Amino acid sequence: MDRETVGGAVLLHRIDGRVPDVLRLAAATIGTGAVRRTATVGGNIVGSTLRCLLPAALVLDARATVLETDGVREADLAEVVAKRPVLIGLRWRTPAASAYRKLPGEAGGAPPLVVASALHAGQGAPDRVRVAVRDGYEVLGGTAPGDAGADETLDALRRTALGELPAAAWDVVRPQVVGLLESRGTD
Ligand SMILES: Cc1cc2nc3c(=O)[nH]c(=O)nc-3n(C[C@H](O)[C@H](O)[C@H](O)COP(=O)(O)OP(=O)(O)OC[C@H]3O[C@@H](n4cnc5c(N)ncnc54)[C@H](O)[C@@H]3O)c2cc1C
Repeated sequence: MDRETVGGAVLLHRIDGRVPDVLRLAAATIGTGAVRRTATVGGNIVGSTLRCLLPAALVLDARATVLETDGVREADLAEVVAKRPVLIGLRWRTPAASAYRKLPGEAGGAPPLVVASALHAGQGAPDRVRVAVRDGYEVLGGTAPGDAGADETLDALRRTALGELPAAAWDVVRPQVVGLLESRGTD
C-alpha cells in the first residue's frame, strides 16, 4: 500500500493515512475491529454484498488489476463488480481533497447510506468532483465540474444518475460537496 495503490489482500485495519481520506474512512467504518483485522480489500469489493469500499474506490476513479486465466490485466470497477475476477490491487491518482460519510445503521436493518466524494485537480483540464452514493445495495455515481461555485456543481450532479436519489440522501450529499469544495487542497 502507498499513496496511490492498495493490494487486494491488504487487511482493512492496515489501511492508514497514506491513502486518501475517503478510502481510509471507508475502511475504518466497516464492521467491527475484529472484522477489519481479517477482512481484505478484495473480499470487500468483490466478495461482499455491502462493499463499503466501492463508493470510495469509484470517486478515486480507481483502476483495478485483476487476475484471470489468461493472466493479469487492468479492469474498471464496473467490470470488477459484474464479473468478480480475482482482485490483485487498485490504483488511483491522489485527489486534491476527499470525504466519506456512512450514516449509522441498525443491526439487521437496511444497509446504511454511504456518501463518498473526491475533488480531482485538472491537469490542464477543469477540476472535477466525483460523488458515489450507496443507497440500499445500489451504488450510484456522478461527476461534475469542480471549478464553479458549489450551487453550480450540485446542479450538475443532480443531472447525473445521482438525481434519482431521495431527498434524504441529498441532505447528506449537499454539505459534503460544499465542504469538499471549501477544503480544496487539504487532502
Ligand atoms: C460482522 C461483520 C460486519 C461487516 N460489516 C461490513 C460493513 O459494514 N461494510 C462492508 O462493506 N462489509 C462488511 N462486512 C464484510 C467484510 O468487510 C468483508 O468484505 C467480508 O467479511 C469478506 O471478508 P474477507 O476479505 O476475509 O473475504 P473472504 O471471506 O476470504 O472471502 C469472501 C469472498 O470474497 C472473495 N474474495 C476474497 N478476496 C478476493 C479477491 N482479492 N478478489 C476476488 N475475490 C475475493 C472470496 O473468494 C469469497 O467469495 C462485514 C462482515 C462481518 C462478518
